[in-house]
Amino acid sequence: MPLYQNQTLKIYNSLSKKKEVFKPIEEGFVGMYVCGPTVYSNVHLGNVRTFMSFDMIFRYLKHLEYKVRYVRNITDAGHLENDADEGEDRIAKKARLEKIEPMEVVQKYTVDFHHILDKFNNIPPSIEPTATGHIVEQIAVIKSILDNGFAYEVNGSVYFDVLKYNEQHHYGVLSGRVVEEAIHNTRTLDGQSDKKNPQDFALWKKAESQHIMRWPSPWSIGFPGWHLECSTMSTKYLGERFDIHGGGMDLKFPHHECEIAQSVASNGVTPVNYWMHANMLTLNGMKMAKSTGNNILPAEIYEGTTDKLKKAFAPPVVRFFMLQAHYRSILDFSSEAIEAAEKGYYKLMEALKTAETLTTGKTSSFDVKAWKQNCYDAMNDDFNTPVLIAQLFEAVRHINSIRDKKETITAADLQSLITTMHVFTYDVLGLENIERQQSNTVLDGVVEMLIAMRNEARANKDWALSDKIRDDLLDKGVQLKDSKEGTTYVIQ
Ligand code: AMP
Ligand code: ZN
Repeated sequence: MPLYQNQTLKIYNSLSKKKEVFKPIEEGFVGMYVCGPTVYSNVHLGNVRTFMSFDMIFRYLKHLEYKVRYVRNITDAGHLENDADEGEDRIAKKARLEKIEPMEVVQKYTVDFHHILDKFNNIPPSIEPTATGHIVEQIAVIKSILDNGFAYEVNGSVYFDVLKYNEQHHYGVLSGRVVEEAIHNTRTLDGQSDKKNPQDFALWKKAESQHIMRWPSPWSIGFPGWHLECSTMSTKYLGERFDIHGGGMDLKFPHHECEIAQSVASNGVTPVNYWMHANMLTLNGMKMAKSTGNNILPAEIYEGTTDKLKKAFAPPVVRFFMLQAHYRSILDFSSEAIEAAEKGYYKLMEALKTAETLTTGKTSSFDVKAWKQNCYDAMNDDFNTPVLIAQLFEAVRHINSIRDKKETITAADLQSLITTMHVFTYDVLGLENIERQQSNTVLDGVVEMLIAMRNEARANKDWALSDKIRDDLLDKGVQLKDSKEGTTYVIQ
């Protein structure tokens, strides 16, 4: 019997604003679509948090023995600068600035995206379709929306008719915005003279002469609207109705609202049963974003190249830090928070090692069966990873007491404890076990001492000695970094 039959998973559905028992459309199978990145720059840590949240969800669904088809797209065309229908295409703009081909921009940042997600031990999706690879399908969806009377063509562009749609359906069903509010949000934009109403959104835009990413269509040489690719590709690979659609909270409106409207307008069916939205990672209390510069790049953390942190932190530590918060809570990144997470992570890893060395007895003073179900209950409660982690630390406490002979455990219970710890730590949370190199306190002390000796040598203008200390350390894989604030080091 598959595991999901023994567990009652509840998911918070952003559409109903309630936790609901998860029931897939087809028993045993789950279709999940998550909006992927727009590949015009390096992903920042905030983006990574959202993808990591859905990776954890993907992992748990797989652990429950569902057959999951996880589709996550790559936006490589159609996402304009201001999220609405105006401005330059983000990728085309980058290509113009760097004097390279748009597809070179796409390639460069897609490779970066994969590399970073792999560093943080995210499992690749089952299908990763691109917007430019599905122009033909997008044109077909536009045709059906036009045929059904929910769109209109003006000067080679096609717009979705929000007011017309709202007469029969509910535009705002997901975000709770009413059409008047949507107007308010879009009124300030320039160049909307083609639209009948300001809240309408583009399905197809005629390309201006300078717009280099362009395709032929029945209406003009142009490009698809940003929202269209997700409706098109989710339907193509998961069907008109599928189980889960996810993305960051900031995509709820307009992106996901428009996706629902497009799908209903083209095939008359509400596309998604469970809408899931992951919350934002903040830095200094403000959303991490590419546009404001308030962000950290993942590599800056594990290479220790940001002056926002005193030292480097390994990818599993960052992953542990993220999963200590519930995916629907805001999480603030700070030096103190990641340092605390590092201690927690290594404590867990050490206990996993200790568990292998425990001696067993005739009785157990720890109810492993009940604890194991607590772990499942945590994950069944809308993927509550902070509660799961608290349960893992409950086990750590028992493991250490058994080691200190203050408690006992039977061989069978110990086996079950170890297996369950491994399942949740490695398979479900996706935390890799790394050797405690970077945070070894003895090593820290020795390197700090050598840094102090080097500073003394520099003060005495003994450059030969100061260079020797630096070079010998580098030889051993410890790289010193000098800055205004002092000298830090990274283990390579
Ligand atoms: P983008 O490439 O801008 O479309 O963003 C990719 C994903 O990252 C989307 O699901 C966004 O909602 C998400 N995202 C953007 N900023 C943050 C942030 N500060 N914290 C968490 N997720 C974010
Ligand atoms: Zn999307």
